[in-house]
Amino acid sequence: MNSLKNRTLLKVIVLGDSGVGKTSLMNQYVYKRFNRQYKATIGADFVTKELHIEEKPVTLQIWDTAGQERFHSLGSAFYRGADCCVLVYDVNNLKSFETLNNWHMEFLKQANPFEPETFPFVLIGNKTDVDGGNTRVVSDKRAIEWCGSKGNIPYHETSAKEDINVDEAFLGVAHKALTNE
Ligand code: GDP
Ligand code: MG
Repeated sequence: MNSLKNRTLLKVIVLGDSGVGKTSLMNQYVYKRFNRQYKATIGADFVTKELHIEEKPVTLQIWDTAGQERFHSLGSAFYRGADCCVLVYDVNNLKSFETLNNWHMEFLKQANPFEPETFPFVLIGNKTDVDGGNTRVVSDKRAIEWCGSKGNIPYHETSAKEDINVDEAFLGVAHKALTNE
């Protein structure tokens, strides 16, 4: 966590299986747009968003992958100095939920935070809009149980496509990273 003058810089990394909507969530949050297709991220490693948490100015520096998550080959620069790790799954895709354990472990291994038990994670269940919820396979109850088993990780459900709950989820991320309560 870096403090430039009074502004706090928080590095947030977003992890989860390919296709769950990580890039879409970031684009919706930062640029207010949704595209069906994204080219692999070119150039910038991260995007930033400025906001206020309890009147404190905060810059979220949100790091996305350029598809390397498929090979679990995210370099050490990606993990280094992360203040919060956002795990994303697709509520219509069981496998993306089941691999959360791996992403959680991989983060702790790679980032090697000082206090792994209390490191701030946030879970996002994305794509709640798909087919009006009829193709959903992971209940919110099940997701919340998983969060409980990992030391009460905050949980948000979103649709990057319909821009449902995206701002709230990232506000939760900033709050968690800043206060870790
Ligand atoms: P990433 O690989 O995790 O970065 O996933 P992307 O952001 O590239 O999204 C993968 C696909 O899912 C793309 O075709 C997106 O348009 C689509 N997608 C992402 N979020 C949503 C959502 O909330 N609802 C629906 N219906 N589609 C989504
Ligand atoms: Mg992506």
